[in-house]
Amino acid sequence: MDHSTRRNFLKDFSFGAAALSAAPGEQTKPMPGRPAFGEAGSETGKPSSIMAIAAHAGDGFFAMGAPVALAIHQGSQGTFLSLSLGEKGSATIPPERYGPMQREASERAARLLGAAAAFLPYSDGEIPANDEAAFAVCDAIRKYKPDIVVTHWRESWHKDHRACYKIVDDAIFYAGLPAIARKAPAHTVQKLFFAENWEDAQGFAADTYLDITPVFDRWFEACALFPMWRGETGFRYNDYYHSLAVARGCLSNFKYAASLMSPSEQLVRHARVL
Ligand SMILES: [Zn+2]
Repeated sequence: MDHSTRRNFLKDFSFGAAALSAAPGEQTKPMPGRPAFGEAGSETGKPSSIMAIAAHAGDGFFAMGAPVALAIHQGSQGTFLSLSLGEKGSATIPPERYGPMQREASERAARLLGAAAAFLPYSDGEIPANDEAAFAVCDAIRKYKPDIVVTHWRESWHKDHRACYKIVDDAIFYAGLPAIARKAPAHTVQKLFFAENWEDAQGFAADTYLDITPVFDRWFEACALFPMWRGETGFRYNDYYHSLAVARGCLSNFKYAASLMSPSEQLVRHARVL
């Protein structure tokens, strides 16, 4: 590939903020309980609401926080939903102390980004991939009404992350079905994305590169509120996510980028012309 061709390749992959917008046209009506995948959104073409749904509080901000921060920067509402606090993540601080620290960090980080922080009461390491959890997430989706959901990719070595993927998949289905009666009416999620995460790397194939340059500093500031950010639990999150944002930026011609993966059906086009 010569230089100019390579530049065109990079340009073609520079979806930027448009990736989080709902593209009009070329879409069919959603199946009941399934995401509409780009059919709707706010009138400006920007999402009106985005939700990160993570197994552990840190995942929501570290792996999914930059897209949420960007959407908020563009005028959207943002919510971080943690299925657990990640309270067993420290080798030196007991869960009963570490859990409240994680909660406080999440609340401060969400406030800094202008987002809401919500929590479900599951135990770290023991998040159940069952209907009870899926309905709890369904209720959160119906309450916060996100157009876009960002969550874990399914091929993770961490059982909580795999559980979260399954729970979110089922929750989106339940949330969009009007026939499922809950406290709040049905809500259809428009787009679903999986975030890049070193723990969920198996089979992760980025198809969307998002320009997070405008929010990079603020997002990093929010992540730094977590005790584990600087490597206290054994993994250098700050170095990893800084390097990753630079590397993904190199691949997409942005200074900093976050890469996301779409469900395969979200990439299907319904076209009359090529
Ligand atoms: Zn995690």
